[in-house]
Amino acid sequence: MNIKKSWAEPYKIKMVELIKMTTPAQRKKAMKDAGYNTFLLKSEDVYIDLLTDSGTNAMSDEQWAGMMRGDEAYAGSKNFYHLERVIQEVYGYKYLVPTHQGRGAENILSQIMIKKGDIVPGNMYFTTTRLHQELAGGIFADVIIDEAHNSESEHPFKGDIDLNKVEALIKKHGAKKIPYICVATTVNMAGGQPISLKNLKELRKLTKQHGIKIMLDMTRIAENAYFIQQNEKGYAEVPIVKIVREICNQTDGATMSGKKDACVNIGGFLALNDWDTFEEARNLIVVYEGLHTYGGMAGRDMEALAIGLLESVDDHHMNARVGQVHYLGQQMMQYNIPIVQPIGGHGIFVDAKKFLPHLTQDQFPAQTLAAEVYLDSGIRTMERGIVSAGRKANGENYYPKLELVRFTLPRRVYTQAHMDVIAESTARVFEKRNKIKGMKMIYEPKYLRFFQARFEKL
Ligand SMILES: *Cc1c(COP(=O)(O)O)cnc(C)c1O
Repeated sequence: MNIKKSWAEPYKIKMVELIKMTTPAQRKKAMKDAGYNTFLLKSEDVYIDLLTDSGTNAMSDEQWAGMMRGDEAYAGSKNFYHLERVIQEVYGYKYLVPTHQGRGAENILSQIMIKKGDIVPGNMYFTTTRLHQELAGGIFADVIIDEAHNSESEHPFKGDIDLNKVEALIKKHGAKKIPYICVATTVNMAGGQPISLKNLKELRKLTKQHGIKIMLDMTRIAENAYFIQQNEKGYAEVPIVKIVREICNQTDGATMSGKKDACVNIGGFLALNDWDTFEEARNLIVVYEGLHTYGGMAGRDMEALAIGLLESVDDHHMNARVGQVHYLGQQMMQYNIPIVQPIGGHGIFVDAKKFLPHLTQDQFPAQTLAAEVYLDSGIRTMERGIVSAGRKANGENYYPKLELVRFTLPRRVYTQAHMDVIAESTARVFEKRNKIKGMKMIYEPKYLRFFQARFEKL
């Protein structure tokens, strides 16, 4: 007999948070009041919250104990030095600039490194990252491999960069116009897809010849390292912590949102190897974030972050983390629900174009599907399609190839039975998909419109 190996969690539950159960009538009213945007729902009205894995994770008892050891001195908190030590030891970067969260680091990095008219290539865009690059005068260029834009491609490293696209940009604009390449581990908008170390090393070789830096968006680097361990030749026996270090070694610095891998509710940082860039960042940080030894975080936040970073690179933790995501994906596939392949690291991405093929992209299929899943069961998901993609500088809509609904799993929060409920609810919506009508946008904010846009049913 071939006995399956479980992904069971390396922890037990010490405290629980009760959730309010809702009726269909209550959900109907809540969704209408929220303008059919799941971001505008009250958390109280949500049963299983898969909006994001950002800041919604369960901290460990060690992290909570760390909260009590917060040193809330204005300057020179001991928690800052602990965090600095952990970042140097785990990632190998020399200098730490703490920020209130990831986008704080993106803002500082973009302001320092990007000049007007510069090209900033990246393996697909991320909403806040690209906006900060654009606000600093840069022009984003997508250099991810084509497979990433195809939800059916089973390429194991869809986060990889197409080196030909990078070379073409260098040829067209000149290396001087490219301050750095922004490499994300894993690629959120492509479905949580990893980049391989082989590809990253090739990119390093190419960019070195041209004096172009590599800046990592290492928000989910531990999950990326897990995929390298599982699927890249030569890494099966290498612990995640070592793979993480090897990734960082190929880069010049990184922005980090502490709210994902590290399981804290708030926090982030910019990490750098170059003293001059660090000096500039340390100057700007006092304008936008806080003093250079707290950068928008309380001492207790920095302590919980330091402990969480260490927990995130544990092999057993990551096996259960990604194992749960894959369990949910397999449940969905049993119901023939179209999901992005291969299953990524932080959630299941349902292909709304395939789920609701009778809707045009202007009728917001992903936004519609997210609303329908909430109406069915109170499960909250998020649109990752045309609404999230926003508009270009000239006002035209971006029309992304991928029109997805993200079912994001917070770390260490929900159980296997919850996964079953999620798959069952999505399957119920799938059964009545032909009857589902699209929506129109009735309010559109200027920046990052997906957060606050409002819709009406057609
Ligand atoms: C969340 C996220 C960010 C931004 O971080 P915040 O802490 O939310 O500001 C940047 N990049 C990626 C890939 C993310 O997922």
